[in-house]
Amino acid sequence: LANKKFHPQPTSFKVKDTVIGPDTMTIMAGPCAVETEEQLLCIARAVKKAGATILRGGAYKPRTSPYSFQGLEEEGLKYMKTASDETGLATICEVTSAHAVESAVKYVSMLQVGARNMQNFELLKEVGRAGLPVLLKRGLSATIDEWLNAAEYIISSGSPNVALCERGIRTFETSTRNTLDLSAVCVLKERTHLPVIVDPSHATGVRSFVEPLAKAGIACGADGLMIEVHNDPAHALSDGPQSLNFEQFDSVMEHIKPYISLS
Ligand code: PEP
Ligand code: MN
Repeated sequence: LANKKFHPQPTSFKVKDTVIGPDTMTIMAGPCAVETEEQLLCIARAVKKAGATILRGGAYKPRTSPYSFQGLEEEGLKYMKTASDETGLATICEVTSAHAVESAVKYVSMLQVGARNMQNFELLKEVGRAGLPVLLKRGLSATIDEWLNAAEYIISSGSPNVALCERGIRTFETSTRNTLDLSAVCVLKERTHLPVIVDPSHATGVRSFVEPLAKAGIACGADGLMIEVHNDPAHALSDGPQSLNFEQFDSVMEHIKPYISLS
């Protein structure tokens, strides 16, 4: 179902009032984690003004340490809905369990499967049955083949609208959080009709590398970008070092606009 051989036309689908697919660049931006309603609203307004059409924000956070902030759960989803109602932005939230899927479908426009859950097959089936558009992140050490099979799980369970998100993979290199596999974008474009999103924030873990790798993703044929933006990155409850402040996000958007047409 994900194979281009049997479906040569690129897939394009709507997420609320925006589109993910060829001919447009879809920008998903927002905080790593939803922290408060005020924080989310203020970020939503700023990213919308800069040209993003999908607000990202995690309410269920798969943190490395159990002692780190785990997310506001359903309360966070409610804030996502408020932000969407106020700004008109579509919203995306990661789901980490069947229970989270059940809650998320009531509040957000698109579900995200995180890198750590790419091969959680029961979750993939649950997400597929929910029927909303899905962003499937690449597993930390997943091959492209394994990734496409994960997409196959979601599509065969009932959700044809899947976008694949390259967010960096584990390598021996330690100067960045992960290594952005840009060639994966080109490989995917050859092998699948599904849209491809590049996430330079999680790929690098370093704010100053977000702009150059966003541009590189665009050059390789990405259909969209996912970028973490925070009103006060120094005090963010998660992923502060890779989060852009509003001014930095505005500047990235200004610098990429000559090369894209926004969705
Ligand atoms: C995220 O998008 O906040 C996230 C946890 O990403 P990943 O699953 O790519 O690490
Ligand atoms: Mn994050």
